[in-house]
Amino acid sequence: MQIGIPAETLPGETRVAATPETVKKLIGLGQTVVVQAGAGKLSAITDEAYSTVGARIVNGDEAFASDIIFKVRAPQIDEIPLIKPGAAVISLFGVHHNTTLPDLASRQLNCFAMELLPRITRAQSMDVLSSQANIAGYKAVLLATQYYPKFMPMLMTAAGTVKPARVLILGVGVAGLQAIATAKRLGAVVEAFDVRPSTKEQVESLGAKFVEVPMSDEEKKANDGVYAKEMSEDYKRRQGELVAKHAAAADIVITTALIPGKPAPELIKPEVVSSMKPGSVIVDLAAEAGGNCKLTRAGEVFQTENGVTLVGTTNLAGHVAQDASSLYARNLLTFLGEMLKKDATALDINMDNEIIAKTRITGDGQVLFKAN
Ligand code: NAD
Repeated sequence: MQIGIPAETLPGETRVAATPETVKKLIGLGQTVVVQAGAGKLSAITDEAYSTVGARIVNGDEAFASDIIFKVRAPQIDEIPLIKPGAAVISLFGVHHNTTLPDLASRQLNCFAMELLPRITRAQSMDVLSSQANIAGYKAVLLATQYYPKFMPMLMTAAGTVKPARVLILGVGVAGLQAIATAKRLGAVVEAFDVRPSTKEQVESLGAKFVEVPMSDEEKKANDGVYAKEMSEDYKRRQGELVAKHAAAADIVITTALIPGKPAPELIKPEVVSSMKPGSVIVDLAAEAGGNCKLTRAGEVFQTENGVTLVGTTNLAGHVAQDASSLYARNLLTFLGEMLKKDATALDINMDNEIIAKTRITGDGQVLFKAN
């Protein structure tokens, strides 16, 4: 079979869905790989690096005319007619907001949305949300240091002492944990908060302080899972008060709270931003999902009247493009292994396999994805 790696065309997308390392392995599985010229450029991967391991460098039309397509972002509407009917497309699809699913289905494509991968142990090595969130959490802290007009660590110098920065992390999933670890490595004093009580231990094991909103047993039970649930109005009020107090004392706030398929919860109200110190910085990793702060502007960085810098930069993983591509590409290669054995001439799409069943969003001419 031919596996195609088209260049990403979504503005701002720097990643690529295969690297020379994964291309070599795909060829080792007895497949042909074609890479669109320049596909790896923004990840600092040259066409030559791909051709050295055996890929053929082609134009976009040829890359799309493949049996299996690896992508980072869903094909754009004008790219869908280029894809061979019956092909498999493995990508992030932004499936909750994607309006092209009927077009993909009527083109008889088997599309697999990597963001729907079940969070089970067996699937960890394919988990693109984790690999990319990890990078985003790291980059969020580095971005904050870029706009923060002070040092992160405590400094004791002949000219006097500089206090360490106080960093507050809201949402302690994969991104939040990496943000805590990165801020700690830079010497900041770190506090963190999440609605899932199980995160307390993880926060403390990284040497940060857990900010705790008292919860009823019922609320604790409801948030026992891997993903957060939408909380009651009463809980949101209690949480809002506590977050407001800690944000006002913080120098840097990094928000990462997401609820799959829903707009991001509002954790920082405009009045909280007004109460923050001049020079403080908010990095809103949820910017693309509406923001954890109402004032965030996705894709923009601006300063409020009281001197708080609001960072709404999106696709932070893409700002560390080479490693982000490298981990993403490995995730996709492992995922493909669920359906492709060495020298296979067709994919084995087994709907009894949970990993396949949960990610397959179109097939047999139908849209299979159902929002919860
Ligand atoms: P996510 O990106 O969906 O959300 C980020 C964090 O925001 C979550 O921790 C969530 O609880 C939190 N959040 C949501 N609403 C909030 C609110 N109102 N206030 C504060 N925090 C709020 O989550 P994620 O990073 O993808 O990971 C979620 C969990 O899944 C993590 O615990 C992670 O370790 C786990 N996980 C497990 C596996 C596996 O077992 N295979 C794989 C990946 C992730």
